[in-house]
This record gives sequence, C-alpha cells and structure tokens, in this order.
Amino acid sequence: MNSYVQKVLDVTKAKNANEPEFLQTVEEVLTSLAPVIDKHPEYEANALLERLVEPERLIEFRVVWTDDAGKPHVNRGYRVQFNGALGPYKGGLRFHPTVNLSILKFLGFEQVLKNSLTTLPIGGGKGGSDFDPHGKSDAEIMRFCQAFMTELYRHIGPDTDVPAGDIGVGGREVGYLFGQYRRIKDAYENGVLTGKGQTFGGSLLRPEATGYGALYYAQQVFEHEHDSIKGKTFVLSGYGNVTWGAAKKIAELGGKAVTLSGHNGYVYDPEGIVTEEKINYLLTMRGSRDANIKMYADHFGLEFHAGEKPWAVKGDVYMPCATQNEVGMEEAKIIAASGAKYYFEVANMPTSNEAIAYLKDAGMIVAPSKAVNAGGVAVSALEMSQNSMRYQWTEEEVDAKLHQIMKSIHDCSAEAAEKYGLGYDLIAGANIAGFEKVATAMIAQGWF
Ligand code: GLU
Repeated sequence: MNSYVQKVLDVTKAKNANEPEFLQTVEEVLTSLAPVIDKHPEYEANALLERLVEPERLIEFRVVWTDDAGKPHVNRGYRVQFNGALGPYKGGLRFHPTVNLSILKFLGFEQVLKNSLTTLPIGGGKGGSDFDPHGKSDAEIMRFCQAFMTELYRHIGPDTDVPAGDIGVGGREVGYLFGQYRRIKDAYENGVLTGKGQTFGGSLLRPEATGYGALYYAQQVFEHEHDSIKGKTFVLSGYGNVTWGAAKKIAELGGKAVTLSGHNGYVYDPEGIVTEEKINYLLTMRGSRDANIKMYADHFGLEFHAGEKPWAVKGDVYMPCATQNEVGMEEAKIIAASGAKYYFEVANMPTSNEAIAYLKDAGMIVAPSKAVNAGGVAVSALEMSQNSMRYQWTEEEVDAKLHQIMKSIHDCSAEAAEKYGLGYDLIAGANIAGFEKVATAMIAQGWF
C-alpha cells in the first residue's frame, strides 16, 4: 500500500474514530486510489487527500416542530458542504431516525466523487435530520419542513448549495421546503432545490432518473459482457422511489424484478413487478401514512417473508436499492452461491468492504453505487440548468442526456481502471475517474 495513502487513512481513522460509516467509505475510496497516488507525487505535495477527506463546512442546527396535538418536538438538522471545487454543493436531504454526522459525511464524501462522474458542474454535499417521517400526518410533515428550512435557508442558494431528496424526502417534502424558502427570501430562486414538482421548475423524469439511470448503466455492462437484460431475473431490495424506477425500466427492457423489501421483511413476486398496475401500486402505497411492503404482498395475494432480506431468492442480477450496509459477509455468501454474475449497488454504500471483496473474488461483476445511481443527481443538475435558463427540457431531451451520461460514467470508469492496469474493475475505475477531476480542480484553485 502506498505510504501517503496509509498515512492519511491512519490520521482519518484517529480523527473520526466514532464515525464508522464515514471511515468505511474513506477506506474503500483511498485504497483504490493507491495506484494513482503512486504515479502522481503532486497529490501529496498539495495535501490533496488530507483536504479531500475533510469537509469544507459542517452545519448542525436545532429543529423544533409542533405535532397535531400541539406538542413541540426537537430534532437535529444537518448540512455537510463537503467539496465545492466543481460547482455548488449538491446532494440530497435524508429524513430518517438513523441520520447522524457519520452517515451524512459518508454520503457527502460519496456525493463528491459521484457528482464529478456525471461530468456536470456540481460539487458534493448532503444533509438531513434524524426526524422520522413514518406515521406523521401531512400537516406534521409540512411543519417539520418549514421549521427545517427556517434555519437551512441561510446556508443554501442556487449558486451556493442545492439540496434535493433522499430517503424520507420526496416531491412533497421538496415542495414544502421550497415554499418556505421562497417565503423567507421573497425571491423566486427555484434553482435552490431539485426534485421539485412539475408546476414550479421540476425536471421531467427526475422521479424516475435514479432507477432508469441504473438500468442504462447496467445496459453498458451487459453490452461489455456480450449479454442482454432480456429474460433476466432481478432481485431488488427497497420499495421507494429508486426501486420503483428500476423495476419499471427492468420491465420495459424485457427483464423482471421479483422482489421488494422494507424494514419489516420482503415479498417475492414470481411473475415479476412488470404490470402497470403493480408498478403504480408502489406509488399509491408510498403515499399512505403507514406505508410498508407487507401492503404489496396483501394487495396482490403474495407471500410475505417477515423479518427477512430478499437475498436468498435466486436471480441473475442482484440490486440492493434500499439503504447503506444491507449486504455484509453473510448476505454476500448467499448471493455468490446463487451463481449470478451481476451485482449492481443502487443504494448508497449498501455493501460492506469485506462483502465487496468476497463478491469480486467469487467472480461477480460488482458495480459501485456512486456510478450506478448517479443518474438521479445528473438529472438534478439538468433541473438546475433549466431553472437558470428559465426553460423546460422535454422528456426526450432529459432521457437522451441521461442515457449519454450513464454511458460516459461507465466508459470513463472502465478506461480509468484499464489505464492503471486494473482490468474491468468498475469500482476502482469510478473512484479514480471521479477523483482525478476533483483533484485537478482543487490543485488549480490553490490551497484551502
Ligand atoms: N440523494 C440523491 C443521491 O444520493 C440525489 C441527490 C440530488 O439529486 O442532488 O445522489
């Protein structure tokens, strides 16, 4: 291992000892950058890695909101402005009880490299709150979003930092957040948030973009392997926006997604989530106050596997779409034993580093989330550009650009890995290609 990489890893571990998720991603990324660092002494001379792992700014604040019974509740809000070398900080807001600084720093760090891979001018950031939207009324969600934005507004702006959705934050929440921003600022700066509704600047296809993008990326991998999506069985986790978009595109391309999962278990649908009725039911289900995946099983008369993960179901392609660390060693062994060839991370960091190594050793092609799920933020960047031009891209324009961006992410990852003698290593390739652009911009902009 390169000694400079080792030194930065050791210092980062000592400084962030209580942030396991953040350390997990830093370790994964820096390790795969070692061959690049070997060849480029200027990175060490510019303290590039030390700067890369230190967020430019961390913001933490109190959020007080009132429930329907008139009782006050206190949550913590965050925004991590990780790296602005390529453009305004860009990345989602997550509302989930597990949110803490470690999770948001890992997501922010991944976002820096992911956004770089999109080829669009966006830096990396992430934010959110430990607020739990589950079981809350619409009015409670609105009051929480208003309280959250009442502090966040002073830190963001169309040229400063542009949040969007993530787990627990969808179109409804982005709408309430934007309403409060507009009210406070008294200005129609709709480029301050992406994932907005169609009537106030939202991009066509933004809800579908992450799932569609994942499949456009997958198509490139299949092409590389002289294979096709047609007739393939996909094992997915999650049931949210990303899973929905992926299932829809899989069906359109002639494959079938056969599983969906949530915190309480999974459902196996042998016929596949392929009909319009099933795909649309996911939307209806998500809109309900106590949405959970058992509703899908009950509605379509399917077996519900309470408390279990879907990985023991046999498929040709595995796609974790739910959240971080869904696949550890135990799950990786089950997945590899299926004999499947493809593993696409769609959620952010769904796999432990150990499990990734195991899947690769077992001969699977493993594609990393920062490449596979970049279509979401890429379409967000298109939304920013249409807002600043006071324009509206057509659906065909967005879809064509999304296709081209996902192809370029795949191709430049494959080329970067090849250039450093790593073969068809899509993980190392994505890290290297994402890093090189950010590093060049950081060096050009001087030390800070
Ligand atoms: N939260 C999404 C992600 O992980 C989207 C971010 C965005 O659109 O800014 O990339």
